Amino acid sequence: MIDHYWTAVQKKVCTKCIDGDRYGECKLPPQFKCALKENFSRVVHVVQTTDSENVLDYIAALRRDVCSKCTEQSANGTCYVRNLLDCPLDHYFPIIIEVIEGTANPA
Ligand code: SF4
Ligand code: SF4
Repeated sequence: MIDHYWTAVQKKVCTKCIDGDRYGECKLPPQFKCALKENFSRVVHVVQTTDSENVLDYIAALRRDVCSKCTEQSANGTCYVRNLLDCPLDHYFPIIIEVIEGTANPA
């Protein structure tokens, strides 16, 4: 179950997101998808299986396990959404790491 991680991320990330209502609810129009929400189980796995003091190691794992499967990323590894700072998963990734690592996994 990853619902408790999502609840924690909503409180810390969705409240800051330009596409949120500032209270944690998403206001993204239905024709758009949030990469954080769409890939959340993989994001949790990336964070839980990376053990490093260096955020670049987490970012490398994100590129390898999530961005490589995302339709927004080009074959050459670039992403125009990322370049526009318009991907909440990429933009808030350091906070997302903190939230997931700081949230206890219920037994
Ligand atoms: S776009 Fe994603 S990160 Fe932003 S409020 Fe919606 S679900 Fe949260
Ligand atoms: S940074 Fe780009 S490729 Fe990676 S998840 Fe976000 S939109 Fe997809």
